[in-house]
Amino acid sequence: MRIFDPHIHMTSRTTDDYERMAAAGVRAVVEPAFWLGQPRTNVGSFTDYFDSLVGWEPFRAGQFGVRHHATVALNPKEANDPRCRPVLDVLPRYLEKDGVVAVGEIGYDSMTPEEDAAFAAQLALAVAHDLPALVHTPHRDKARGVERSLAVVAESGIEPGRVVLDHLNEVTVKLVRDTGCWLGFSIYPDTKMSPPRMVELLKAYGTERMLVNSAADWGRSDPLLTRATGEAMLLAGFTDEDVDRVLWRNPVEFYGQSGRLDLSDEDAPEPTFAGNSILRGGS
Ligand SMILES: [Zn+2]
Repeated sequence: MRIFDPHIHMTSRTTDDYERMAAAGVRAVVEPAFWLGQPRTNVGSFTDYFDSLVGWEPFRAGQFGVRHHATVALNPKEANDPRCRPVLDVLPRYLEKDGVVAVGEIGYDSMTPEEDAAFAAQLALAVAHDLPALVHTPHRDKARGVERSLAVVAESGIEPGRVVLDHLNEVTVKLVRDTGCWLGFSIYPDTKMSPPRMVELLKAYGTERMLVNSAADWGRSDPLLTRATGEAMLLAGFTDEDVDRVLWRNPVEFYGQSGRLDLSDEDAPEPTFAGNSILRGGS
């Protein structure tokens, strides 16, 4: 089983995770820029983070044979902080970088006017830089958040096929299915979507434009839930072909729209981990 996790925050994960992911078939990831938990107080804090997403983290992933790409954005939560908003001015510089395959995560947290402004401005950046957009849907008041997100997406003029609405569930899937946007589902250990619930959605709605991710981060989460979903699909009667479509070809197609996915030696032999001593010592 080859797996492309289209949404995972590896900065918050350990080398053990990289080893387990590689052993489970994860060969490529997209790491969206997000809220790190500790509030940022200045733009430099963002740029150091973005530099890490396009520099250090791809290097670290490479030690385990995992291809790493990033998305950059001012996340919805910090769009409310006036100390953070000037990051919008430095984003264009990052949106030109090779490893950046979309604008994201953008969208809503609490649906404030400040979030409206940052969301619209960043969809405009996606259009200007010819990149897809990753839209985070809020955890509270989700249906209204999805409806409002779809309205902002429509207003922006971005092509719906270049947008993914993420963190969907059984309720919000219905709102997005016929819009032409892609549908993202985050599989969590004990809240939101689980592998069996995801399988039911794939039975009901098919595999087209469906993306499955672990969204693993600094909270309770599991980077192997993509693999668990693939196994649950097989047990439910889906074919290897179906699993490959959902866990590999769909994310390749979606993020491939950036023209920047680098999967050139994706068929290379499995890494041995013999060379990872470079990651010890922290120098
Ligand atoms: Zn995320």
